[in-house]
Amino acid sequence: MLATGTASGKSLAYQLPALAALTADPRACVLYLAPTKALGADQLESLESLKLPGLRAAGYDGDTPIPERDWARSHANWVLTNPDMLHRGMLPGHARWARVLRRLAFVVVDECHAYRGVFGSHVALVLRRLIRLARMYGSDPVFVFASATSADPAGSAGRLIGRPVIAITEDGAPRPGADFVLWEPAVLPDAQGQDGAPVRRSAPAEAARMMADLVAAGARTLTFVRSRHAAEQTALSAQRRLNEVAPELAQRVAAYRGGYLPEERRELERALGCGELLGVASTNALELGVDIAGLDAAVLAGYPGTLASVWQQAGRAGRRASSGRRALVVFVARDDPLDSYLVHHPETVFGRPMEAAVIDPTNPFILGPHLACAAAERHLSEDDLDLFGGPAIKPVLAGLVDRRVLRRRPKGYFWAEAGHPADTVDLRGGGGGQVAIVDSGSGRLLGTVDLHRAPSAVHAGAVHLHRGDSYVVQDLDLRMGVALVRPERPEWTTIARSTSTVSIASVHDEREFGGNVRVGVGPVEVTEQVVGYLRRRPGGELLDVIGLDMPRQTLHTRAVWYTIRLDSLLAAGVCESRVPGALHAAEHAAIGLLPLFAGCDRWDIGGLSTALHADTGEPTVIVYDGYPGGAGFADRGHEMLAAWLSAVRGAVADCPCEAGCPSCVQSPKCGNGNHPLDKDAAVIVLDVVLNAIAPVRAVAALGR
Ligand SMILES: [Zn+2]
Ligand SMILES: [Zn+2]
Repeated sequence: MLATGTASGKSLAYQLPALAALTADPRACVLYLAPTKALGADQLESLESLKLPGLRAAGYDGDTPIPERDWARSHANWVLTNPDMLHRGMLPGHARWARVLRRLAFVVVDECHAYRGVFGSHVALVLRRLIRLARMYGSDPVFVFASATSADPAGSAGRLIGRPVIAITEDGAPRPGADFVLWEPAVLPDAQGQDGAPVRRSAPAEAARMMADLVAAGARTLTFVRSRHAAEQTALSAQRRLNEVAPELAQRVAAYRGGYLPEERRELERALGCGELLGVASTNALELGVDIAGLDAAVLAGYPGTLASVWQQAGRAGRRASSGRRALVVFVARDDPLDSYLVHHPETVFGRPMEAAVIDPTNPFILGPHLACAAAERHLSEDDLDLFGGPAIKPVLAGLVDRRVLRRRPKGYFWAEAGHPADTVDLRGGGGGQVAIVDSGSGRLLGTVDLHRAPSAVHAGAVHLHRGDSYVVQDLDLRMGVALVRPERPEWTTIARSTSTVSIASVHDEREFGGNVRVGVGPVEVTEQVVGYLRRRPGGELLDVIGLDMPRQTLHTRAVWYTIRLDSLLAAGVCESRVPGALHAAEHAAIGLLPLFAGCDRWDIGGLSTALHADTGEPTVIVYDGYPGGAGFADRGHEMLAAWLSAVRGAVADCPCEAGCPSCVQSPKCGNGNHPLDKDAAVIVLDVVLNAIAPVRAVAALGR
């Protein structure tokens, strides 16, 4: 596992031994996996540029024409593909890939920090299917992983293949000098958010202003924003600003987003590389595998989801050390708890990383379908069980036999149907069913949303953003799995209101601390019912509340929770009437900060807080994975509880607002419309919990 910084020579580190193996054995083969097609294409180009005799590299992805696929199968000794094609194409058709599998010397898993959460859990099982088939064909390949730096690189890679992995983390590459600025936009003097909360200037607006100033100073600047729409808006407002001060430069600023043709993309990259363009606002489409580096400045408008991505985006800026000039990286915080926490706690960005690529390949909702795929490739024998998780998988296998997906015979488990189930398993879906989002005018499929999220995300009347275009949902048919939408750009956003309950299925993993706090982790059942939605103006002003009659949804997942004895809260000065608001605020901030440790998005997790929970009998805060069976996020939160809750306390206590704002305890996804919230009492709650669970460790973990 090579876990070092951007542009530290990781490609060379796996290319050399793999190429040496091909030279030593003319029949040896290498399989290279990238999380995106763009990265695979760049790697293919880089290999071809070596012009090595005997190297026969070929891409095998969704875009590869049939004759080239045939060529790859019969002749290539370096096949570049992605987990999806491995899952759908190579493994089900392994007999046709026998030549490659028989002599598989190396498997390269590039950018493997991308394999986290539900997607990562799927990929872990695809890799195990690969290992099993390679063994069957008589090969035992060396796995090389490449990743950005993370908290536990050897552990993350080890979880992907279920075997111990050695990490190489020493980064000896020379670094061009750069100044890294963490920037919190100012509060707008005349604006007010929900309940009088202060409103900060938006990160893209601030980034546009910075890019214009940098371009005016002659600096080649790349600005990263979160959506296509924001990329276009940011480029436009930078141009507008330049029109006032240096109109000749306005046309040297452009937007870049996913969905461009390869030629258009290359042209834009070339123009930026040579300085024809001075400023580009981009979605993270430019993030992976595109050879743009050596710019004067990078502006990051908001946290891109992981610290690995922060460093990848920052790595685009960096002049040659010999130029004697330093590059500039600016991280502009958005108005949310995680971004604000980062600007107030720079050690989180620059210190030892706390974020690990979390996966859970034992999730029965993910494991079951892959066991079926594996059995369809070749029957599963007792010897295979270890590879997929050992005895723990027995109940999942038994379930598959009961449902007649598999058939039990003396030699093992056999796929009971015709064909192969791979097409029914989407590695990038959330597990469970999907609802298709369809433009009712054109009939075009815009995307999908997980079935259990559909009632809150695409209920009738919801404003749905798709790649920066705005739609309003006309109708949601859960039984048919279709949400019909039409293009519309209303003057409001919508937020679903829901009621939810969480029942804790088993409390055997609960521990008590300090006589007043208990902490647990385990399976839970979340029942949620969307009861209506709020319409708000962009500033946060509430327009109205509209009722909805929606069915109840049940999610079986995993959660982490803590409980506090009421008397210890009273003793700490939180009177009974303030308990619900205190717990609710602490819950929101916890959801906001968990992504820092688990590499998830705050929309991947949910929470519930209550002054009296039926299963624990006490004031309780619960944070759960938003996916059937869980994705490992709650378990990571449990593992990192003291450091996580210390960060939560920091985010809430250090926020300069009076009574709560989007940077600390207000949440855009609150089913209760952010009521009640008690910021000050939340700090007391967190202090009580931290004092009980690990006062020393909590402080040490953050170096405070
Ligand atoms: Zn605040
Ligand atoms: Zn809430």
